[in-house]
Amino acid sequence: MAVALPVPLFHPLTYLVPPGMAWPVPPGSRVLVPVRQRREVGIVLGEAPPPPGVALKPLLAVLDAEPALSAPLLATAQWMAEWYAAPPGVVLRAMLPAALAAPGGRMAAPAASRVVRLVRELPSLLERERLFARAPQQRAVYDRLEAAGGALPLAALRPQGSGALAALRALERKGIVAVEAEGMVRDPFAARPGVVPPAHPSAAQRAAIDAIVGGAPGSTFLLHGVTGSGKTLVYIEVLREALRRGDRTAIVLVPEIALTAQTVDRFRGAFGDAVAVLHSGLGDGERLDAWRALRRGTRRIAVGARSALFAPLERVGVVIVDEEHEGSYKQSEAPRYHAREVAMVRARHEGAVVVLGSATPSLESWERAARGRAVRLVLPERAAGARLPRVAVVDLREVRQAALAARAPHAPYDPTLGVLSPALHDAIADRLARGEQSLLLLNRRGYAASLQCHGCGDVAGCPHCSIALTYHRVPEGLVCHYCQHQAAVPARCPRCGEAALRRQGLGTQQVERLVAERFPGARLARMDVDTTSGKWAHARILDRVAAGEVDILLGTQMIAKGLDFPNVTLVGVVDADTGLNLPDFRAAERTFQLLSQVAGRAGRGPKGGAVIIQTRLPTCHAVRHALTHDYLGFVREELEARRAPAYPPFVSLANAVVSGTAEEATAAAATGAADWLRGELAVRGVRDVAVVGAAPCPVERIKDRWRWHFLVKSARQGVLSRVARLLAEGCPVPGEAEVRLVVDRDPVSLL
Ligand code: ADP
Ligand code: ZN
Repeated sequence: MAVALPVPLFHPLTYLVPPGMAWPVPPGSRVLVPVRQRREVGIVLGEAPPPPGVALKPLLAVLDAEPALSAPLLATAQWMAEWYAAPPGVVLRAMLPAALAAPGGRMAAPAASRVVRLVRELPSLLERERLFARAPQQRAVYDRLEAAGGALPLAALRPQGSGALAALRALERKGIVAVEAEGMVRDPFAARPGVVPPAHPSAAQRAAIDAIVGGAPGSTFLLHGVTGSGKTLVYIEVLREALRRGDRTAIVLVPEIALTAQTVDRFRGAFGDAVAVLHSGLGDGERLDAWRALRRGTRRIAVGARSALFAPLERVGVVIVDEEHEGSYKQSEAPRYHAREVAMVRARHEGAVVVLGSATPSLESWERAARGRAVRLVLPERAAGARLPRVAVVDLREVRQAALAARAPHAPYDPTLGVLSPALHDAIADRLARGEQSLLLLNRRGYAASLQCHGCGDVAGCPHCSIALTYHRVPEGLVCHYCQHQAAVPARCPRCGEAALRRQGLGTQQVERLVAERFPGARLARMDVDTTSGKWAHARILDRVAAGEVDILLGTQMIAKGLDFPNVTLVGVVDADTGLNLPDFRAAERTFQLLSQVAGRAGRGPKGGAVIIQTRLPTCHAVRHALTHDYLGFVREELEARRAPAYPPFVSLANAVVSGTAEEATAAAATGAADWLRGELAVRGVRDVAVVGAAPCPVERIKDRWRWHFLVKSARQGVLSRVARLLAEGCPVPGEAEVRLVVDRDPVSLL
């Protein structure tokens, strides 16, 4: 019998079924098998003739009465293994909850512990600085709590030493924190109220719903609806219809649960207990409970991020991929699958329809519709009579020229004009005066992007990565955003001894400080990786915005997703250009999507709204078309740019990344691997495949590993699958310098 194990092997292992064991064991069953000295959980793939001349070991046990994975899931796994050149056992492992991967399948009971909770938040940056000016330990504890979403187990603070505990006690006396003898931090999803969806779809929504409901099994729809057009109601009505007709089930994928809590609340409001929300806040045991409920059919709708695609539902009728353009649908470790693509495969095997929803569809989905392999449905207008916001551009180069021309002789230029231009400043002031809310986007966290010496020009870099360290102000230090390496801020340049170190490149912390200074009365919240490390931190911040407790929400791309706040009447983009110069063919597409999505947060209510985009590249097509909400215009230009040299959607791509601990060995291995592949293709007479490179990756070193890559391109998907497999399985990799080769099919990032 063939059994797949979660190991990097492309072929299953064969085991004997011992006499007396129930027979046959159906494919998809979990079994316990001996592997060298260990016992491992594997998945039965089917019967296999014993290879001649090998003494087979018997399997030890069949773990469940029924198979854990259904036939459509097994078929999907097989497709994934071929398409992504991934070992089948690794793919199957990714489909199961963690608790079922362990031989015992046992779940450790969570230990009761004491929890430190933030009971008084200090939204005003200035107040915070006043309180903590001479109490850095208290500031550190406060920052950690805030970053963790307002609560931390006491045990997490203990390793920080007695200073942290003393600071904690001081904060307790000030009434800022409380220590509670409590079990676990509760799961906010179960406690959140669901939101009842609107009762009557508009004519455009109705047409989309009818088309999808009438769709043939296995068909794909691209629901292209502008921001605020009411895509969620279309999903909900489609699900309702699927549940009503016979006993079908459904899967809803969202890019990131914590950021899309509002959307999830709507599904729960519509379907209540039929919904299982699979989110990262679940422990292994809770996740297993949800998995079992879906498998039994007591919950019929699975809502979750990427991996919810593998929910153990039967007779799936609809798969929805909301915000299908989001890069988070791609898994960055093995198996490196893209949930949007796999959704269509599972749907085909289930006889389900797929709905891909977005205001800014990926070029892949656009092209799919253009070639007739998906049906494009359009919601051209916002729901309930709302209109798309006006978008104005502020050319920061002109702001600077005007300020230089207008200043008194020898007066210094005020650099904060490039952060909050007069137009953006006035717009924020205006919203504050009217009690309306503003969002400010800057897609770069930290205080300053780098620290450079005035004397010799040296930029403080990470010792482990080829990347500049980001300057963080609270808590102060230099941080590597790739490996989290931390360093103290040097008083002098370590290379030349010069004392003048210049911070350059704007980050969210710096904008936060400036906004706090310019608008001292405003209630400000910042949302980026540094303030949201806790599982529920996002939702807590967003709930405060929804409750009207925040006047200005500042953040990175996190604030661009799925938010529906009617009182947000202004969106300001502090610097539209942060992502434009990245050496990645998707840089323009990502920028256009980000600008369109964040603009789409403005003016969702009856008060309308406006968007101000600050840029130094106003003529770039990613910026220009965002100003006029012109998706088609953008796509036309971007497609032209992808034709030569050819990039997706015109070709399919696999990125082969070779990494190792020594620079020269890595370079040699990458060049060797690319040459090996060229040779193999020539010998086998494979045409229609281009091998480009090898060359260093844009980020040449991460976590002490040097990185080189080469691209494999082909317009023929099947050919690329075979070539990727050949490379992943057959390419000889030298044994030195811990060299590794990773093949990433359909990469979302080439950095
Ligand atoms: P999208 O996901 O397309 O950006 P949403 O689904 O968030 O848009 O809908 C935007 C807003 O419009 C929501 O507040 C929603 O409740 C409202 N809405 C959607 N459809 C209708 C409708 N038919 N009647 C009234 N309000 C609607
Ligand atoms: Zn680093």
